[in-house]
Amino acid sequence: MDEMQQSKQSDVKGTTKKREDYLEWPEYFMAVAFLSAQRSKDPSSQVGACIVNQENKIVGIGYNGMPNGCDDNLLPWSRSADDRLDTKYPYVCHAELNAIMNKNSADVKGCIMYVALFPCNECAKLIIQAGIKEVVYLSDKYHNSPEMTASRRLLDMAGIQCRQFNPKRTEIVIDFNSINHCGKPIK
Ligand SMILES: [Zn+2]
Repeated sequence: MDEMQQSKQSDVKGTTKKREDYLEWPEYFMAVAFLSAQRSKDPSSQVGACIVNQENKIVGIGYNGMPNGCDDNLLPWSRSADDRLDTKYPYVCHAELNAIMNKNSADVKGCIMYVALFPCNECAKLIIQAGIKEVVYLSDKYHNSPEMTASRRLLDMAGIQCRQFNPKRTEIVIDFNSINHCGKPIK
């Protein structure tokens, strides 16, 4: 067998076949949302959102945090207090709002939003007004709250498709060291 034939055969055997465990688009966009959530300073809830256009291009990313220019060391992060003004709720911007506001395209009409948590009613309003056509969420842990019930009503009325993401794997590991191993035979 000459060298040419040998290399052809090794191709067929699979050494140069494409990877099978690459991230599919929905997993990739949801992972981007989760990675962005790692930026959040909220001690109890880290949520990320990623907006994608019809060409599978990311046009906006956001995570929950205090508004621009408002010192997140001075504002409260607690979930409960005697005075609501001492909780985070009146101040914090949700991931969905930030993803829409951070858009790097003229608008987000017809886009899909990938978000870790089912959006609240306030974010549902923003999603609708921004022209987003579909929401892909991972968790729906506050399903029975009035905010989520109102949100479902609005999103449903506006004809926005909401779909729960069912991940094929439970974790995606980012290993900065992997670049040093790629291309080398694994022993
Ligand atoms: Zn919200």
